[in-house]
Amino acid sequence: MQLEFLRSHAWQVSVGRYVVLLAAAFVIGLPWHLEIYSVLVALFGYSLWSLANLYRLQSWLRSRRWRPPPEDRGVWSDISSHVYTKVRTERSQKRRLIALLRAFREAAAALPDGVVVLTKGRSIVWFNEAATRLLGLNSLRDRRKHVDPFLPALAKAWITQEPAQEPLRDVPSTHSENLRLSFRLIPYSPEHMLLVVRDVTPLARLEQVRRDFVANVSHELRTPLTVLHGYLEMLEPEASPQLAPVLADLRGQSRRMTQIVEDLLTLSRLEAQQAPAQDRVPMRALLTSLRREAEGLSQGRHSIHLVRTCEADLRGSTDYLHSAFSNLVSNAVRYTPEGGRIEISWQATKDGGARFSVADTGYGIPAEHLPRITERFYRVSTSRSRETGGTGLGLSIVKHVLQLHEAHLDIESEVGVGSTFSCVFSRERLLAPQGMTEDA
Ligand code: ADP
Repeated sequence: MQLEFLRSHAWQVSVGRYVVLLAAAFVIGLPWHLEIYSVLVALFGYSLWSLANLYRLQSWLRSRRWRPPPEDRGVWSDISSHVYTKVRTERSQKRRLIALLRAFREAAAALPDGVVVLTKGRSIVWFNEAATRLLGLNSLRDRRKHVDPFLPALAKAWITQEPAQEPLRDVPSTHSENLRLSFRLIPYSPEHMLLVVRDVTPLARLEQVRRDFVANVSHELRTPLTVLHGYLEMLEPEASPQLAPVLADLRGQSRRMTQIVEDLLTLSRLEAQQAPAQDRVPMRALLTSLRREAEGLSQGRHSIHLVRTCEADLRGSTDYLHSAFSNLVSNAVRYTPEGGRIEISWQATKDGGARFSVADTGYGIPAEHLPRITERFYRVSTSRSRETGGTGLGLSIVKHVLQLHEAHLDIESEVGVGSTFSCVFSRERLLAPQGMTEDA
């Protein structure tokens, strides 16, 4: 209680002591008329005491062993006790922060995914055990080095893109054979970013098994279906008129199955393909052929128009692009009622690219179906698709072909008004028409 009082009134106590000391010295000197000297002696003594306290404070601050401060020395005790409290709080905060940091590091180190902290200039700041295994980093040697030499070629190109937010999926590792990796880059502060590397080998293997299974089944079904189809074609409906409707149905179903198998094989081939052929795709000839196909399918039931405002040709695979475009044309004919209008166009875009579009005045697609429309076997109306000979794989093929050509599919549709499907190509995919230079 007394100590508490002394601590909270340290200044008053010190000043009081000082005044009492000087007054006492004065009174003691009075009888001999030596009050000035006795006050001077008292002042000298006080200064010595203060110096001694300063010395004690300094040795306490310097001491390696951190002891509680000396008590009851007026303002000196107060100063040292404040310093003591501050340092103690800071020390415990530091200890807590270090424990937290250690816990975070241990958690990051235990992650099965590789985590690499990078500077904006892509120098390595820190990485965990998994990154050592997945990228071949060495904890002693590779800190502060540039990360690029440790990345597979594809990831190297990806990480230099600005901004590289889209994750990079399924890249073969250069460090270890048969290892497939996925990469994700997360900028988390103005100076640092996190590179997360995941081992996707089991997933990639499963995906491969699925692809091989579909390809093998389709391939195995092809021969028996061809034989069956051949026999059905040989049968004459006139020979047994009562079986004529059954025969027509059988032929229709066998044609549909053959088409499904062919489409599945096309998809398998597309999935296995890393990059398309780099041929010149002559757009003028291709558009004319598509128009002819549309007229053949329509049999005069629709008005078909061709608009071409872009002179450029495309660079890629003629077969695949023809297959994608003709799927869109065939859909427009199949999902547009008689009397509708279909417009096939090849137009330049503002950014120097070009778009191939097929617009129709057909049934249209409700908005809620659009996000899933390019999935395999996804149909808005199964009966309408089947009636018109659809397999449910057309738009999936279109999407894969466009991905292979670094292009994308744009769909605008309104129920009862019509749909426009556009394949948008970047300027890098365009070639000046033959006989003209790039600038012409
Ligand atoms: P399908 O062989 O069934 O036509 P697609 O993958 O080509 O398969 O198309 C998927 C579904 O998208 C179709 O079943 C149809 O419902 C819808 N669709 C595609 N194109 C059009 C279009 N031009 N107009 C209206 N609906 C369309």
